[in-house]
Amino acid sequence: MRAFRRLRIERKLTLIIMATSCVSLLLAYVAFLVFNSISLRRLSVDKVSALAHVIGRNCRASLQSDDSAAATDTLAGLEAEPGIVGAAVFRSDGEVLATHSAGAGAYDPPPPRGSGEYIENGQMFLFRSIRRDGREIGSICIQSDRNRIDAALLHDGVIALGVILMSVLLAFLLSRKLRGVISDPVEELSSVARTASWRRNDELHSPNEGEDEIGFLYGCFNDILTGIEERDRELGEHRENLEAEVASRTCELSAAKEVAEAASHAKSDFLANMSHEIRTPMNGVIGMTELALSTEIGPDTREYLEMVRGSADELLGIINDILDFSKIEAGKLGLEQVDFSLRSSVAMTMKTLALQAHEKKLELVFDINPRVVDSLQGDPVRLRQIIVNLIGNAIKFTSQGEVVLRVDVEDCSRSSTTLHFSVCDTGVGIPQDKLEEIFDAFSQADSSTTRRFGGTGLGLAICSSLVRMMGGQIRVESQVDKGTTFHFCVEFGLSRPGEQKPRTRVPVRLEGMPVLVVDDNATNRRLFHDTFLRWKMAPTAVSSGGEALEAFVEAETRGSPFKLVALDLHMPETDGVELAKRLACCARQDRYKILMLTSSEIGQHPDTLARTRIYGHLRKPVTQSELYAAVVDLLSEPTPEETDPAHEGVEPTAKAPATRKEEGSAAASARPLRILLAEDNAVNQKVAIGILQKHGHEVVVAENGQVAVNAVDRERFDLVLMDMQMPVMSGIEAATRIRENESLTGRHVPIIALTANAMKGDEERCLEAGMEAYVSKPIRPSRLLAKIRDVLSRV
Ligand code: ADP
Repeated sequence: MRAFRRLRIERKLTLIIMATSCVSLLLAYVAFLVFNSISLRRLSVDKVSALAHVIGRNCRASLQSDDSAAATDTLAGLEAEPGIVGAAVFRSDGEVLATHSAGAGAYDPPPPRGSGEYIENGQMFLFRSIRRDGREIGSICIQSDRNRIDAALLHDGVIALGVILMSVLLAFLLSRKLRGVISDPVEELSSVARTASWRRNDELHSPNEGEDEIGFLYGCFNDILTGIEERDRELGEHRENLEAEVASRTCELSAAKEVAEAASHAKSDFLANMSHEIRTPMNGVIGMTELALSTEIGPDTREYLEMVRGSADELLGIINDILDFSKIEAGKLGLEQVDFSLRSSVAMTMKTLALQAHEKKLELVFDINPRVVDSLQGDPVRLRQIIVNLIGNAIKFTSQGEVVLRVDVEDCSRSSTTLHFSVCDTGVGIPQDKLEEIFDAFSQADSSTTRRFGGTGLGLAICSSLVRMMGGQIRVESQVDKGTTFHFCVEFGLSRPGEQKPRTRVPVRLEGMPVLVVDDNATNRRLFHDTFLRWKMAPTAVSSGGEALEAFVEAETRGSPFKLVALDLHMPETDGVELAKRLACCARQDRYKILMLTSSEIGQHPDTLARTRIYGHLRKPVTQSELYAAVVDLLSEPTPEETDPAHEGVEPTAKAPATRKEEGSAAASARPLRILLAEDNAVNQKVAIGILQKHGHEVVVAENGQVAVNAVDRERFDLVLMDMQMPVMSGIEAATRIRENESLTGRHVPIIALTANAMKGDEERCLEAGMEAYVSKPIRPSRLLAKIRDVLSRV
């Protein structure tokens, strides 16, 4: 069956046709044989029966007369009948009257029987009674040979078989001829289908347009092909569209990713800048206010200044919250891992909060379980921030009673300890439905109370983020009008005894101690300079890394090296850490210590800090007391390499060396100069005049280039400071004119260009116009004075 299935359709068709015709012909043949046999036998019986009837009638007279010869004659009439073997006539008593034999011998008749046909050994014996007037007078028997019938049957069968074979052959030839009518289209269809499965082509459509089932099949097949092609086309278009869409989406996504990354970078840059830009002026505001408060001032002014300081502190708190929150959001807030004493850190923190509590007549208590290890490793600044926030809130929302901070051990291992802090107050409490919310940013339990008490709603969000960053969790329990308790757990490392900083302190004398202040911000520079001066130290203030290196080397050459460098972290060209590294390379002695002033975390590994001698850092804005504490702390603590405490940062009470600023001014003002300032902007005029006059120079102002050219023509000047952008005549043109005039007079006045265009090529243009040097705005006094010194020393 399987082999049949694998045959080609034309073979199948042939086989089916042949099998069908063979079977039907065979059936017909068998039917023919059976029918022929029956009818031949019937015919034979009928014929013999008729003969027996006729012969019997003719023998009636012979039987009545018992005439055997006449009966024999009558029987001889059977001679002409083929197939008759013999015959006999019997008397009524069963005696043979006469016989007839078709052969040569005598016929031996069988004994008489009743009328009927009897077949024995291929012979048929037909018996008939012979009657006269209804009375049986004898009987007749005719024996016929049945083999003749069989021979006739065989003959007919062979002929029929021949006919059948001819028919089969004819059927085969016809089927071969006609099978193509069915198989050809089907095969064509199949080859089209096969081709269609691997190739798509319009030409594949079948041309068959017959109206039979195959034609219908073709139609359907064509429809299917058309459908498939249509779908293929659509799919192709979809795929192309999809590819184009995927490509465009990918482009959009990567563009969006770049934008997001750029935004994230911009955000971090913005945060860093904001932090710097906000803290720097805040440092000025707070520092200058404190400086002013430390001078002799009237009570009204003092009150105003104290109010300024209070407001500045408040503003600073808000700014700090916003900056911290933004940093946490941007994932930019890092934690330090330093050794610290928990008890002294908590005590210091509580001390700063004591005043607030005292003003509200609240009891402020802290209780540290004696089991709590004191020497820990972690971020004391951020821990302090959390405690200040929680206790600050507790004081804010409590009108009477107490605020208690408890510290207990939650868990302890060989290398770390988890401490449980709780801040409990007897204040207004928080409604149950607000307990979860208050940790969300900008959310407040009751905005009406908060309006009364103030606040941004950021404090707890920051606390909970900080606690999470420290590996802990914060939660709150509260009952309205009864009080609130905040709990948080934080894990700290245990500092190993060997790693503890030695707490032995040597008394420090700040008086006359050379200290270098490096800060690009003029207000802060002035603030630190004046503060150190008030403490009778010998400060030198510079505004950049380059100047700091110069001052450092100079001080060493002079034999009074700096003991302390107060260094700003964020500076435009060389930042604090980079400068510290350079100082470490160029310093001949290594007894100095660096106090870094930052607007954010330093973000350096402690080893780097130690290598670059950064032994302390303070976050701006810095209060006088913080600065003093930090300076004393730093200078009174021996550095690891300082084995001999006699070297400890205390200089003999030598005369304070001149500050760099004083030196600079001394050099520049070795001879008071007459300077022509060509500048159109009133503010810039004031700034330059202020700087120059402060250093003993006489300044004549020319409001444009033309006026400057005339002035130089008319009067004598030691130096001209020439702004480049001026109305009427530009600085370049004015300088060119001055040089042209000088070629006639033989005089020469040095010209320094001042410009806000710190563009490439400016310097060349100035030099081409005959100017000696170039200073970019905003004018930094030290840079201007240094440039003046430099130019005058060259001419
Ligand atoms: P805020 O700057 O407004 O104090 P916080 O995030 O520190 O912001 O606090 C969120 C809110 O949680 C507060 O506005 C106040 O409603 C509630 N809250 C915080 N601490 C306390 C407390 N000790 N007692 C009562 N309410 C508190």
